[in-house]
Parts: sequence; C-alpha cells; structure tokens
Amino acid sequence: MEGKRVAVGWAARDPRGVLSPYTFTLREMGPKDVMLRVLYCGLDHTDVHQMRNEIHLTIYPIVPGHEVVGEVMEMGKEVEGRFKIGDIVGVGCIVGSCGECACCKSNREQYCSKMVFTYNGIDVDGRPTTGGFASTMIVNHRFVVKIPKKLAPEQAAPLLCAGVTAYSPLKHFCRNEDNKNGGVKVGILGLGGVGHVGVLIAKAMGHHVTVISSSNKKKEEALQHLGADAYLVSTGTKEMDEAVASLDFILDTIPALHSINSYLSLLKPDGKILLVGVSPQDLQVNSSALILGRKTITGSFIGSIADTQEVLYFWEEKELKSMVEVVKMDYVNKAVERMEKNDVRYRFVLDVHGSHLS
Ligand SMILES: [Zn+2]
Ligand SMILES: [Zn+2]
Repeated sequence: MEGKRVAVGWAARDPRGVLSPYTFTLREMGPKDVMLRVLYCGLDHTDVHQMRNEIHLTIYPIVPGHEVVGEVMEMGKEVEGRFKIGDIVGVGCIVGSCGECACCKSNREQYCSKMVFTYNGIDVDGRPTTGGFASTMIVNHRFVVKIPKKLAPEQAAPLLCAGVTAYSPLKHFCRNEDNKNGGVKVGILGLGGVGHVGVLIAKAMGHHVTVISSSNKKKEEALQHLGADAYLVSTGTKEMDEAVASLDFILDTIPALHSINSYLSLLKPDGKILLVGVSPQDLQVNSSALILGRKTITGSFIGSIADTQEVLYFWEEKELKSMVEVVKMDYVNKAVERMEKNDVRYRFVLDVHGSHLS
C-alpha cells in the first residue's frame, strides 16, 4: 500500500450482499484522470442485483454506487482547463469505452463492446472498478460531467443513472414531431427511482403522462406532486379495459420479472414499450399482442455521456425537483431492505462525505 492512495468505502463480500466498511487502494492517476471526493451517491436496484451476484458476474469484494456526485480534488495534465479544483461533478454508470468504435464516435458509448462499468468492471490497472460508496474515486475525465450550479448535489445524484435512463429513451423515441392530436401519450410503468423522474421529464417535454402502478397507494402523489395527468391501476380490470389502445409509448421501469402482455394492449397501433428496468429472468411475450397492431418492444440502456450532461441542464432549466431521502452510509443495508419493499419516496441518496468514512 506504500505510496498509494487509500480509499475507505463500503463493500459486499459475498452473495448475501451485506455491505460493511472496506479499505482499499486506488489506481495511479493518469494524465486524463480526475480524482474526486465523493459527496453523495444514489442507491438503485442494479446495486442490489450486483451485490448479490444476481447477474452472475460479481467480483467480490464489490464497492457499488453509480450515481456519484463529488468534488474535484486533483486532475491529470490533459484535464486542466476543463475542470478546476473544487468543481462539483458527476459520474454515472460507466467509466470507460474504447473511444474508437462507431458507438463511441456517435455519442453512444454506453453500447460500446468495451464499455467499462463504474464498479465491478475491469479498470485500466486490471483490478475491479470501485463505485461511489467510497470516499474517493479516480475516473477518466471523458466520463465525468459537470453538475450545474443551481442543482443541489443530493438532488443531482439520481439523475446520473435514473434520470438519464428515463431521459434518453424519451428523447430518442418520443419525438415532438409526433406531437399531434393532443400530444404524445406516454405511460410510465412503475413509480420508483426511474419512474418518478420519468414522470417529471415526460411532463417537462410536454407529453401527456399516465402513471401505471399495481395499487392506488401512490395515486395522490403521482397526480398532485409529480404532475401526472392520469393514474391507472394495473390490477383493476375495468380501468385496464377502458385504457386499451390509449398510449403511444410505455416506459417500463420495473426491475423484476413481470408480465408485459397486458401492457401491450394499452398501446395504440405502432406503439412501443421501452424497457429500461433489468429483469434477472426472461420476460414472456404473447406474439399476437405484438403482431395485431405492429407494436414494438425495445430497450434502452442508461444514456450517453452527452445525454447525461444534457439531462442535468434540462433539470436546471425546467427547475425540476427529484424526491430523495438522504441517509448516512451506516444506514445502507436498511435502505436496501426498504427499497425492496418500495418503502422510499423515491430514491435513497447516501451522504457519503457526511458519513466521515476516513
Ligand atoms: Zn467503443
Ligand atoms: Zn442505476
């Protein structure tokens, strides 16, 4: 450990996925790198899937966290001018890509075959990357975005994964030129971390927004606080029947196995389901539900670095406000438990710096 920078974080050490304090060394700073002191980090379902090895690729110990807001502490020679010491910056889900392929050259680096995840990826020194549940990170500046001045850092954290996950497909698929006959009708399926920012973003884009949820529990909040236009309970047969063929798009944010056939019936002909929540098991599709109406099931993975920067400025410009619950690091295992019961409005954000890890 001699001469190396030490970071203090929280790691899971086996598939039980329980997090506990963990000290490790960081890689060397390169000329293109930024070192940041982590201030806040969001918690999402992918973190839990990874901590428990539910995607079967986890390297233990694993230090999760990919909605990272930090402060620039140091930077490499080639980064000077882009950032200053003390700038508030963000890191999302990826920290590397080849930089040369067609995806990398067209602002789609999240689809590069050599893309490197922020944690549990392979870093330039051959060791696993470590995320924002830690005091410090070293990241190539290409994957670091600026946090606009008007955004509170804890507010910005969920935008770096959840926010761009909703923003990128809404921007890509739900085009304004389609905005005829009373506007684009967008359904948001699942009102969690991604869903709640999805409602705010789709509304700010000018669309008509229906929240689709399994119970009435979040109805008042969706309509009154998030500004949704309609609320549909997916278990209510009569409501679902009445809503058949009423939507142009459904942003499906459910990060678990679920049946999508009943949601396909909610789409108008040529409608699309945009999958953004990763289910560890395969989904089943009724082929006639797609064929009768020329419907599409498609997917979208986070967004590009350019989209990530864009959603932050969009948020600032539209004066949006995410709903977060800020907790200290030693609450993280309890936060995971509560998130799994949907007992959070709507995103846990860890106050990493305020938890005095080191
Ligand atoms: Zn590439
Ligand atoms: Zn995420």
